[in-house]
Amino acid sequence: MKITDNLAHIRHEIKLLEKRYSRGAGSVCLLAVSKTRSVDEILAAIQEGQRHFGENYCQEALEKIVAIKIPELVWHFIGPIQSNKTRQIAAHFDWVHTVDRIKIARRLDEMRPDNLQPLNICIQVNISGEESKAGIAIDALHDFMEELKPFKRLKVRGLMALPAPSSNFDEQRKPFAILNQKLQELRLARPELDTLSMGTTQDMAAAIAEGATIVRIGTALFGPRNSG
Ligand SMILES: *Cc1c(COP(=O)(O)O)cnc(C)c1O
Repeated sequence: MKITDNLAHIRHEIKLLEKRYSRGAGSVCLLAVSKTRSVDEILAAIQEGQRHFGENYCQEALEKIVAIKIPELVWHFIGPIQSNKTRQIAAHFDWVHTVDRIKIARRLDEMRPDNLQPLNICIQVNISGEESKAGIAIDALHDFMEELKPFKRLKVRGLMALPAPSSNFDEQRKPFAILNQKLQELRLARPELDTLSMGTTQDMAAAIAEGATIVRIGTALFGPRNSG
């Protein structure tokens, strides 16, 4: 089956890249981006041992999470967050990669159910040249992190970025290098920060070269999307 082959290929590729760039073996987590994909496609990946899945649209994601209901799965929200969706996101996801407003963080904190572990959070950073306006400016990161401190139901894990696409490897590396440098800087005061969520199908190698700990891969795993 196609998904089986694709998954094996991506895993092999990640292993090679970890070696090539002196990254620890197993230091890069593959997040399967399953937006627009069917439950059956997700089950095919689960069958091959995939555990981390990323979704962008709350309603679509909930239908799949409820349908699949396998406790070992780790669900990551990686889309833009509308404030009327925070309750469901806080209740059904393990990670949120796209936090860039205090108001949203506060709602996620308030709505995270007490019987669950704190919600893992990445702060989305808008590195210059980013296509969308999502993400906070790199210079605003320090203050933003200070403001997150009171939120005890959130566990800040690190940074996320989705830079403007480029087909040139060296150009792809630049924004990832900036993000990595920023994380290392923040780690001086907060050594618990351990996550760089960066790299998609187009720029996975550059992201791993620059320290990605989570790569978010959709197309290379499931094939081209029809929409979205
Ligand atoms: C869709 C999406 C991805 C996956 O992109 P591919 O090019 O299909 O690998 C990764 N990150 C985010 C935030 C996305 O929205």
